[in-house]
Amino acid sequence: MRTSDVFELLRDGRPRTRAELADASGLARSTIASRIDVLMRMGLVAPYGGGVSTGGRPPSLLALNPRAWVVVGVDIGATHATAALADLSGTILVERRADIDVATGPDHVLGWVEEVVAEMLADQERTVSELAAIGIGLPGPVEHDTGRAINPPIMPGWHRYDVPARVQRAFPVPVLIDNDVNIMALGEQHAHLPDVDNLVFIKVSTGIGAGLISGGELQRGAQGTAGDLGHVRVSRAGDVTCRCGNQGCLEAVAAGPAIVESLRRAGVEVGAGQDVVALVQSGEPAAVQAMRQAGRDLGEVVAVLVNVINPSVIVIGGSLAAAGESLLAGIREVVYQRSLPLATEHLSIVTAQAGERAGVLGAAALAIGHVLSPDYIEARSLALV
Ligand SMILES: [Zn+2]
Repeated sequence: MRTSDVFELLRDGRPRTRAELADASGLARSTIASRIDVLMRMGLVAPYGGGVSTGGRPPSLLALNPRAWVVVGVDIGATHATAALADLSGTILVERRADIDVATGPDHVLGWVEEVVAEMLADQERTVSELAAIGIGLPGPVEHDTGRAINPPIMPGWHRYDVPARVQRAFPVPVLIDNDVNIMALGEQHAHLPDVDNLVFIKVSTGIGAGLISGGELQRGAQGTAGDLGHVRVSRAGDVTCRCGNQGCLEAVAAGPAIVESLRRAGVEVGAGQDVVALVQSGEPAAVQAMRQAGRDLGEVVAVLVNVINPSVIVIGGSLAAAGESLLAGIREVVYQRSLPLATEHLSIVTAQAGERAGVLGAAALAIGHVLSPDYIEARSLALV
């Protein structure tokens, strides 16, 4: 049994005795002792309860030490960016936010990231050697394996740009890149649904996309485009032309701009997507109707997802999620009608709780998942012995 296997037993943060670890692993106590010794030298495992020994005897409980390393999570949106320094439990220690347009290009945006990472480390009196990894979410399609955005529509200058290589010039640590919806799914799960292994996070705003977590793992698919629901055909969209050039896409009838347009056609005075949410919240009948209908259109696609991957929780996030019950009611209506009773018996459809912070929490969770993975722990422990 490897050092990382012993660490896996402590990863949930619950303190355990050496005897419990020996029982759970089936290893001799002397073997456990040497593995624990390596993990303690790495700082990852520490005596639990502040390490105060009583009567000269060493404290008997051991636990993951979340302060051992820090990670950075960065959520880059279309017009703003948020970066946070977090400990290994995902608790945010310090955060920075800026209005920054992703269209200004990777040099400018990643320059800001490098600047604030240095600032946040200094703020928390942590050194670069204590920084374990950086997770970054980008608002476009991302090839996760290479950390490059591929033909991102709103990100001129980013196509195939090597984000990890650039950031690693300043901080020589693993740099993980994913799309914004995937990190929001991770953030919501990490912060509010840690015991849910099968969930779908759907972002409904200017566009529509989903992050799929199945069997406890984020499912990216072969090229990283899994969950791109916005361009699935729905019946009501008929021959409506979508911004992608196809006809009949979900986004063309149920995303923010489409709802705004349908309300304007009905004679309702309305500005951007946020105005729609405000109108729904104030009970404006046409807006409530339009939101419920968008929910039904979404429900058509969600019902297929429910039948294919059988999630236990569907989380609705993004700027239109604030419309709350009107949107959820439409989704539920269609999902319950079109899915098998067994699939919906314990299914809950809820709005996101992490709000604007989902992205940055998820980017940190992406980094933490990497540095606490068995392979990474094993490699670091072998470098030590
Ligand atoms: Zn489309």
